[in-house]
Amino acid sequence: MNSLPFPRPSKIVCVGRNYVDHAKELGNEVPKAPLLFFKPSSALVPPGAALVLPQASQQVEYEAEIGILIGKALRNVDAAGAEAGIGGVTCANDVTARDLQKSDGQWARAKGFDTFCPLGPWVETELDVSDLRLVTRLDGEVVQSGPTADMVHQVADLIAYASAAFTLLPGDVILTGTPSGVGPVTAGQRVSIEIEGIGTLDNPFVRR
Ligand code: ZN
Repeated sequence: MNSLPFPRPSKIVCVGRNYVDHAKELGNEVPKAPLLFFKPSSALVPPGAALVLPQASQQVEYEAEIGILIGKALRNVDAAGAEAGIGGVTCANDVTARDLQKSDGQWARAKGFDTFCPLGPWVETELDVSDLRLVTRLDGEVVQSGPTADMVHQVADLIAYASAAFTLLPGDVILTGTPSGVGPVTAGQRVSIEIEGIGTLDNPFVRR
């Protein structure tokens, strides 16, 4: 297995419904404040690793996201402080068991299965994330394509908001939400997530 492009983080902080079109496609309102949740760091796997469809779910979906790597400890920072604390950016897939997300209420299981957080292929340290295009391909066919400019809450604001609740440590990862076009995957399919200026994160799905 490939190695991770960075050390395992203390936490992976995610934001739900941060693109208007994606909130709408699932029939949700856009939250006024960022809707935060965690993925466990045990879900993290490198580019190319097989993503395992759990027996407990019949509907696993991809979500292309920009992953922000935190460069230094951040507590209660403003947007400018948050900007200065960004260590780099990478591609992320916020793999989600959509059926369990609905039936469980809490999202720990739906978002937290082993292998549900591939990140990579590497970390870009000099990149303005305010207007990058995310493109997801399912077996080569484009299924998501959206600009980060469509985010409801911008990256620096998300980091500042999170840092008011808990200290962000160096190496922590922030997943910043997905544009519209999410959909299910089956065993044997591949999902690749390409972000302008970074590269492509490509992983196959398997059932064991
Ligand atoms: Zn997501």
